[in-house]
Amino acid sequence: MKKAPQKTLPPIASPLAEAVARDVLIAEIEAWAQRIGVEDRISEIQIRPMKRKWASCSSRGRLTFDTALLHQPAEFRREVIVHELLHLKIPNHGRLFKALLKAYLPESIQ
Ligand SMILES: [Zn+2]
Repeated sequence: MKKAPQKTLPPIASPLAEAVARDVLIAEIEAWAQRIGVEDRISEIQIRPMKRKWASCSSRGRLTFDTALLHQPAEFRREVIVHELLHLKIPNHGRLFKALLKAYLPESIQ
């Protein structure tokens, strides 16, 4: 999922808070993967700094999420997570992708 050009810098967090936030993000990703039914397609989940994207996925099931997501609101994290996990089912942004995104996130604007 691409980023808007301006990216805010995350606030400075303690190492413990950062570690907890990472675990929470992983748990959120795993819970959504089960709900969407793609948990078997995930080979690896990475959280690391990314410049141009909030997240990406490879065809081999390696998911990468930007560390800066840890400091974003829960609703936005959820949008990024669902968007990226849906790519394990549908690699493009076509009509089916948009329909599923809407089905899983009915309250979001996309
Ligand atoms: Zn996408």
